[in-house]
Amino acid sequence: MSTTTENVINHYINGVETPGTGTGTKPIYNPATGQVTAELRLADKADLDTTVAIARAAADTWGDISLAKRTAVLFKFRELVASHIEELAQLITAEHGKVLADAKGEIGRGLEVIEYACGIPTLLKGDYSDQVSTGIDVFSFREPLGVVAGITPFNFPVMVPLWMAPMAIATGNAFILKPSGNVPSAAMLLAELFKEAGLPDGVFQVLHGDRDTISGLLTHPDVDGISFVGSTPVAQHITEVATAHGKRVQALGGAKNHAIILPDADLDNAADHLAAAAFGSAGQRCMAISVAVAVGDAADLLVTKVKERALEIRVKDGTAPDADMGPVITPASKDFILKTVTEAEAAGATLVVDGRDLVVPGHEDGFWVGPTIIDHVKTEMAAYTEEIFGPVLVVVRVETLEEGIKLINANPYGNGTAIFTSSGAAARKFQRSVDVGMIGINVPLPVPVAYYSFGGWKASLFGDKHIYGPEGVSFYTRGKVITSRWPETHHASGASYNFPSN
Ligand code: NAD
Repeated sequence: MSTTTENVINHYINGVETPGTGTGTKPIYNPATGQVTAELRLADKADLDTTVAIARAAADTWGDISLAKRTAVLFKFRELVASHIEELAQLITAEHGKVLADAKGEIGRGLEVIEYACGIPTLLKGDYSDQVSTGIDVFSFREPLGVVAGITPFNFPVMVPLWMAPMAIATGNAFILKPSGNVPSAAMLLAELFKEAGLPDGVFQVLHGDRDTISGLLTHPDVDGISFVGSTPVAQHITEVATAHGKRVQALGGAKNHAIILPDADLDNAADHLAAAAFGSAGQRCMAISVAVAVGDAADLLVTKVKERALEIRVKDGTAPDADMGPVITPASKDFILKTVTEAEAAGATLVVDGRDLVVPGHEDGFWVGPTIIDHVKTEMAAYTEEIFGPVLVVVRVETLEEGIKLINANPYGNGTAIFTSSGAAARKFQRSVDVGMIGINVPLPVPVAYYSFGGWKASLFGDKHIYGPEGVSFYTRGKVITSRWPETHHASGASYNFPSN
C-alpha cells in the first residue's frame, strides 16, 4: 500500500489518498513489538463535510447504475480481495497482532459476504400482484438509503468492514468507513481494491477520526444510515444519538459468550474447541467463548483437558509461522485483563493457568497476556460480569442443564453461545430456550454463513436488523409499493369520495 508520506496513513476520499485538512494524528502500534509503526491522520470538520458531500453526490449516480454494472464491480472486487489475501493479512497482523493464518481466516469470511452481494440482482427482486382490483396492479421494489457510514472495531479490520460495505454498495448506497483507530491500514487497501474493481470515486471512502468525527457522522443531515460494530456502551451511545437525528441504525455490541458442556459430551472434542474459541485471536473475538459452564461431573476432567491444551499454545509474534496466538491490542487492554484476573483470584476463584507474567523473548515490549483459565468463578465477580476481551476462560460450575440455561438468560449479553453434548434432546432444549442470537451445537463459534444474517440479542445488538445476509439487504434499502392503473380509455365515472376499496 502506498502512502503520500512514509509511515503516515491518510484518508481515502473521492478515489484518492489524501491528508485532508485535519492536523491531528494518532500513533499506530505493532502490539507484538510495542513499537509505533505509523501516524494516522485524524479528520477535522472540513474533511468530514467534504467526504459526506462527495458521498452524497456519488450515491445519487451509483444508486442509478444498473444492477448488471454493480454486479460486475463486485465480482471484480471479489477477485481482487482474493488475490490480495497475503497483503491484507500482513496489514492486519502488523496492527492487530493476530496470527497470519487467523487473519486469512477473517478475510475468507469477508469474501463470503462479497460473494453473497454478487447475487444482488436476485436479492433485490420485488413482488408483483396482477389485477388486485379491476385494471389495477401492485408491485414493490427497494431503493438505497443514500449515504451510509460504517464505524468498525479493532478486532476484525477486514471482515467487519466487509460485513457492511459490499452489502451497502451492492444495494446502491455510498459508504463511508470510519475504521478503528488502532488498525486502519487494511481499510486503505480495501479502498484501493474497490477503485481497481471499477467502483466510481466517492462510493467507498475511508475517513479516519476521533469521537468528533464520529459525532459528525451520527448527526450529519446528509448521512442516512449508520452501521456500527464495537463495544456495548458505544453501541448504545451511537444508537441514541443517530436515531435522535433520524438515521437508520444497526449497532452491534459486546458479548460474554457461554458454552455449556454436558457430562455426555466428547470431552476431548469439547476441550479442543473451547481452547480454540477462548484463546484464538487472544480471545479478542466478539464470538469468543469466554465462559465455560461445566455441568455436573464434566467439570474436573474438562478443566484438566483445557489446561493441557492451553499450556501448549505457542504465543508469539503473529508473523511467526508456528504462532498460535499473538498479543492483545493495547497496554490498556492488557492492564484491564490482568486486573480482572487478579481480582478474581483475590475473591477466591482458582487460577488454573496464569498468563499474567508471560514474556515473549525478543518481544519484551509487546502487549502480551498468556492463555489464562480461572475455575470456580462466581457470577458476581468482574471476571464474569465484564467482557474481558482477552485470552481468559472462566469456568462456572452448575449442576444441571436448566441451571446453565438460566445463567445464560440472566446475562445481559446475548451474542453467541454453544452447547457440547451427545444428546439431541438436550441440544434441542438448549436451542429453544436460550435468549441468544447465534447458537452452536458442538460448534464453538457459530458465526452464520453470509446467506444468513449475523446478530446477537439483548445488549449485543441495538436496532432491528442483523448485519449482512438478507437482513443486510433490508437494512440498506427502503421499500416502495406502487399501485398502478393504466386505463385503455377514460370512462368518466365521476369522483368518489369514499376510501378506495378493491
Ligand atoms: P469500541 O467500542 O472501543 O470501538 C468501536 C468503534 O467505535 C471504533 O471505530 C472506535 O473508534 C469508536 N469509538 C470508540 N469509543 C467511542 C466513543 N466513545 N464514541 C464514539 N465512537 C467511539 O470497540 P473495540 O475495542 O474497537 O472492539 C472491541 C469490541 O467490539 C468488543 O466489545 C467486541 O465484543 C465488540 N465486537 C462486537 C462484534 C459483534 O458482532 N457484536 C463484532 C466485533 C467486535
